[in-house]
Amino acid sequence: MHTFLLALSLVAPAPAPFYEGDDPPIAKALQLEDKQLTSILTNQLKTRNVTVKNVLSGATDIAGMTHLERAALLAAASSQPGNENDMMLEADGQFTPVETRWDGDVISFRIGAPKKSLYGEGPSAAELQTKYGVGPFVEAGSKWTKEMLWLVDAALATLAKDELAGVAGLPFHIMEKDPSNKAVRGRSVAMYRQEPTGTQIELYALALESDKRKFVGSVDHPVPNSVSMLVHELAHAISRKTHRDAQAAYAPQKAAYDALAAKAVEMQKAASARLDEYRKTKDEALKKAVDEDNAALKKMQQELNTASKNMAALGAAQRQGGAQPSPVEKAFLAKLPLPKSPTAYGRTLPGESFAECFRLAKLDPAALERAAPGIPAFFASAEYKEAIAAPLK
Ligand SMILES: [Zn+2]
Repeated sequence: MHTFLLALSLVAPAPAPFYEGDDPPIAKALQLEDKQLTSILTNQLKTRNVTVKNVLSGATDIAGMTHLERAALLAAASSQPGNENDMMLEADGQFTPVETRWDGDVISFRIGAPKKSLYGEGPSAAELQTKYGVGPFVEAGSKWTKEMLWLVDAALATLAKDELAGVAGLPFHIMEKDPSNKAVRGRSVAMYRQEPTGTQIELYALALESDKRKFVGSVDHPVPNSVSMLVHELAHAISRKTHRDAQAAYAPQKAAYDALAAKAVEMQKAASARLDEYRKTKDEALKKAVDEDNAALKKMQQELNTASKNMAALGAAQRQGGAQPSPVEKAFLAKLPLPKSPTAYGRTLPGESFAECFRLAKLDPAALERAAPGIPAFFASAEYKEAIAAPLK
């Protein structure tokens, strides 16, 4: 029994596959002088105890590989075991997509065709509004260029009709960078911002920087990283529609309660005056009015109780808006526990796990299936469709 357990513990568990969401240290690797790159990569592969393989050519010897391929492999081998990494490599004015997969003790890779440009030409802002039913395109410190509009078009084009309902009317703001300054090398690409004063989707011009290092999808159809980050933010907008609805319903309920409360104060005043008068005069006609006042006040109290209850329920939903998971986030969490989310960022919060899986389901379902088996099917399920339309409770 003892020896059996010992033997088991000597076998290291295979690292769970995950999708690398963070930037690969690719620029640094590319800048290395060729000899130095080869020597660092050789050491790194030895330390991590892995070999490499070009999936298309079958090549396994790094001596015969290009500088670009070796740079990608160094970035992959410097990351955590088990990762799948979709990297964009910039060299000689061209962009080459490389996908690496660390499976067991082999890092396999695929390389795509180099491209001169990462973007196409997008429709106009007015065309986007009509096409998707989203709000206006606001310039808040930066310009909506054709490229930026192309990014938004590519992101919105991934949404199904009932998902578009979750972004209906929302304005898009183009800004130079993340105003909360969390951006590291352009990592913060976009933001779903929900404030009591209004909701907007922000896109940062710095976003283009991250596209030079990372893509999502396959090497044959690489999608710029910023598109996938924007799809992540659209996922927040869709899952948080429930909170926006609760917020919108709260204001009229509160106004109704306030009006009722003001009326109750007036009624109370008038009733008190009549009661005082009756105590002085003992007038029988006044007694009848006092009795009627009491009945009316009792009825008013009941109305106030109901209005207060309605308002409190919506108010609680609204106040907890930031922390409380939405119905779809709850349903999703039941399918995929937080520690099993496919990216490191996805493991921080239920909402982030949902958004990370959403973007991969839309743009790289095969990668999502590898890192979180069975999860792409959730986004095609009736349960998912119902959950995104369910109200906040
Ligand atoms: Zn997020």
